[in-house]
Amino acid sequence: MEKVSRRIFLGMGAAATAYVAHHLWNQDAESSYAQQRQTGGVINVYSARHYDTDKALYSGFTQQTGIRVNIIEAEADALIERIRSEGSRTPADVLITVDAGRLWRAQEAGILQPIQSRVLNSVVPANLREPQGHWFGLSRRVRVLIYDKAKVNPNQLSTYEDLANPKWRRQILIRSSSNIYNQSLTGSLLAIHGAKKTEEWARGLVQNFARAPEGNDTAQIRACAAGVGSIAIANHYYLARLIASDKAEDRAVAEKVGLFFPNQRDRGAHVNICGAGVVAGAPNRQAAIRFLEYLVSPKAQEMFAMANFEYPVRSGVPLHPIVQQFGNFRGQNVNAAVFGRNNAEALRIMDRAGWR
Ligand code: FE
Repeated sequence: MEKVSRRIFLGMGAAATAYVAHHLWNQDAESSYAQQRQTGGVINVYSARHYDTDKALYSGFTQQTGIRVNIIEAEADALIERIRSEGSRTPADVLITVDAGRLWRAQEAGILQPIQSRVLNSVVPANLREPQGHWFGLSRRVRVLIYDKAKVNPNQLSTYEDLANPKWRRQILIRSSSNIYNQSLTGSLLAIHGAKKTEEWARGLVQNFARAPEGNDTAQIRACAAGVGSIAIANHYYLARLIASDKAEDRAVAEKVGLFFPNQRDRGAHVNICGAGVVAGAPNRQAAIRFLEYLVSPKAQEMFAMANFEYPVRSGVPLHPIVQQFGNFRGQNVNAAVFGRNNAEALRIMDRAGWR
């Protein structure tokens, strides 16, 4: 019955659903109530985020609603595969992961369902959620240029496009093309410039690599500070982590570099998201929607973004002081779904350009 009622009430508000459900299923009230307690008392959240502070964040939801949050943590691709293989028997209600490219993959795999929520639609900017409601951005991350202050004057920096200019020969540090952040960045360029120009850009960029790609975004910043190249491409929070580190050598690395938001004179810097969607066939659909709505509330947004030095999606929420120091920037106003849609072609272009 739970399944039938869910299907009938799809698209109605939570309160209306509860009201109609109560009256319509009155004759079966006892068993339905028992079932509600059994299935509505907990939600299963499959999360690719692993921050200690997230525990406090989720317990806030339990305090507010009485619904327990059971977290299953793993790498994003493993979680997507697990939900897929669990099929219609999956206990998963919510999937949380980073990068719109991955959320797109989850959507393509058919493991997310579209939801309508007035709260989510009004709080999350339109370009940071999937138009049909398959997933919603919860925090923003910006792909920035980190430069060696001893070698580069920020006046010399301008755009992602300019990084393919021969003047930066052997200066660029960036991780492998197997990384989703770079696939999404390339996918965003593809949306603006088309395949031919994007491939030219990728070839020029590869020509300018200081070394064959290795390591994560932190490794690029470290290599930049060590003089291996002079410009690293990284998500902003990797620098914030080094600034906030309790290790003196990390802070020394951060001291040597500056942060630059590219494309401020045209479309804005590349913005990606950490986001979440309700799993197709979620046993606790209404509770899952409430959970996502909770995650965009002012207090939760502050905690969510602070945990990893990210930018909240909700406006008016305070930033971490370190992130605030980075200053104001203009972000690209393209729908994050585009990165996913362009992912396969972006990968082929990176491949052809010799970006390993
Ligand atoms: Fe990251």
